[in-house]
Amino acid sequence: MIQLIASLLILWIPETGRTTCLSYIDPDPADYNVPSGIPVLMYHHVSDPVDGYYGVSTHRLLMDLRLLDEAGFYLITPEDIENGLMQVPSDRRPVLITFDDGWQDNFNFIVRGSTVEIDPSCAVSILENYCDEHPEFGRGATFFISWDKTPFGQEEFVQEKFNLLIDMGYAIGNHTNMHADFTVLPRDKWENAVIMPMVKFHSYLGLRTSGIFAMAYPGGRFPKGVGAEEYLAGFRFMEREAVRIGFLANGSVSSINRLLDSHEGWFRIGRLDMSQYSVRELLGWRNIMTAGQREDLHDSLRYRIP
Ligand SMILES: [Zn+2]
Repeated sequence: MIQLIASLLILWIPETGRTTCLSYIDPDPADYNVPSGIPVLMYHHVSDPVDGYYGVSTHRLLMDLRLLDEAGFYLITPEDIENGLMQVPSDRRPVLITFDDGWQDNFNFIVRGSTVEIDPSCAVSILENYCDEHPEFGRGATFFISWDKTPFGQEEFVQEKFNLLIDMGYAIGNHTNMHADFTVLPRDKWENAVIMPMVKFHSYLGLRTSGIFAMAYPGGRFPKGVGAEEYLAGFRFMEREAVRIGFLANGSVSSINRLLDSHEGWFRIGRLDMSQYSVRELLGWRNIMTAGQREDLHDSLRYRIP
């Protein structure tokens, strides 16, 4: 029923421009009822007043963090999924928070005379302040950058912001060069869409670019059943796979079992657009992990990447 309503809603969503991430519903029935789901939440603008259809307020982000923490979640990054969630305490359950596009309200610097400070109302500040006061919640989020504009909006601070994010334990992800929708982009243009951002990241981050391997598909969609995952997995940057994990915006929560059982699953991880979904709604889903009942994740090798 929820899917039907969401599908109907989509019919009424106007295309608001190329820098939005249109959410659509394509859940895999296998992802339901299996209590091994890792919720991946997707945000765009975080601002007051709310900016655009996909935006949320600063208060909303803070309330979401509080609700997730109180429900026993623990912040992870894509690297933690690769590592079998080993660092997640056994009495907590994982959640991955992501921000798409690289908007300035996600990470803003304020210049006052000769000093530069982090805007206390930007998303990074909200996360940092909450996590400082609540160490049980862990720390970390992922910022997916599309290069159709200056990342986080301030050209003179791009290098400092990227490095600072990594220093603080956040992850940076690839959101393509020009926010290209892979369901319409010709295949011969894919490599450029994926690798050009890596070249640009490298100019600011050097060797630290090796930590960038997650892709959020612009528009939230990725072709299914046509070998697209394998094709994407073949792209290399500095002799490494440029993309090892890919995120949709399909309104579903993918299970870790599915990741472990198929290579394809790594390129089809579901995300929830938090301008459409709420944490309270999420907590009612049957497939998300229950805190205290996931000791299997701490087992040895079976849960590592093959
Ligand atoms: Zn986007």
